[in-house]
Amino acid sequence: MLRRTLRHSPLLRYGGNRVKGMIDFDRIPRSALPALLQRMPKAELHIHIEGSLEPEMIFRLAQRNGVPLPYADVEALRRAYAFTDLQSFLDIYYAGASVLLKEEDFFDMAFAYLQKAAADHVVHAEIFFDPQTHTDRGVSIEAVIVGLSHAMRRAHAELGIGSALILCFLRHLSEEAAFAVLEQALPYRHHFVGVGLDSSERGHPPEKFARVFARCRELGLRVVAHAGEEGPPAYIETALDLLRVQRIDHGVRCVESPALVQRLARERMPLTVCPLSNVKLCVFESMAAHNLPALLAQGLCVTVNSDDPAYFGGYVNDNFRALFDAHPQLDARAAWQLAHNSFEASFADAAHKARWQGALDAVFVQAAAPGR
Ligand SMILES: [Zn+2]
Repeated sequence: MLRRTLRHSPLLRYGGNRVKGMIDFDRIPRSALPALLQRMPKAELHIHIEGSLEPEMIFRLAQRNGVPLPYADVEALRRAYAFTDLQSFLDIYYAGASVLLKEEDFFDMAFAYLQKAAADHVVHAEIFFDPQTHTDRGVSIEAVIVGLSHAMRRAHAELGIGSALILCFLRHLSEEAAFAVLEQALPYRHHFVGVGLDSSERGHPPEKFARVFARCRELGLRVVAHAGEEGPPAYIETALDLLRVQRIDHGVRCVESPALVQRLARERMPLTVCPLSNVKLCVFESMAAHNLPALLAQGLCVTVNSDDPAYFGGYVNDNFRALFDAHPQLDARAAWQLAHNSFEASFADAAHKARWQGALDAVFVQAAAPGR
């Protein structure tokens, strides 16, 4: 088990008798939360790198590569970001990705994201990429993977942020196509830690990809899948039972099945939830209606993530801020728990997790210290 208890953190000795062995969350006023949410270390586990392409970068890369865009300028593109559901977003998302052609384009995109993530005190990011979005346009998978990896190495060296890649299969395409892109990617196996499943959920259940996920597990890859965002709770169950995923991406519709919620809590199955995305794509009618606080209260290992930050109104700290603003019952303990969950749910090794969780505890112990 990679989970640690607070008791094991040497940094907590700083707290003195009153908080020995635990953080005194009640000493942290709600007014301290915005600054705490900003500076607490965290992992981001659900970010599609192509969804971090800001309109300004789309236009810059379009110009650099001579790619025509169906929008007059940055503002016209931004105005098109009025989505009604997942599909209306995906149509624009794929158009935006068309400007990515060369290794340096993938480098620029990933480095820009990692700079923003580091500023949000993300210490570790597990980044989705969609190779089929690029290989189907004739871009080599080498340009995609090498460009992203180069940015990740440089960000680690210059910004101190760690990261890993997760290759996603597009579920609106066939399982044969997923097998084909997996074969193309295998020469670069050391560049990615796992595989995922994204794109249009409805009508494309997890079981469609059971064989390719079995192959990926044989290869020692970590496995995750989007399920229960727009699809029913049954998709979460088949992702668990047939794909044998280690995390569920989104998963918010689990609440429609009390038995499933109990199972997710019992198995401590992480859900990578993306609040701003869910509101923007009308999964919930408002942030106040989002069920993340309820899921957290039921003991689920929920985490906060940005999904496609350039399209949905913000990066990971914007998600934390919007969530806490809309839910007055979320307190310092909830903030700590969400960051703690993000480390617990990550695919990093135990030593890294222990270090990050120790740093997280230290931030909260300091915030709760007498005299503050
Ligand atoms: Zn997603």
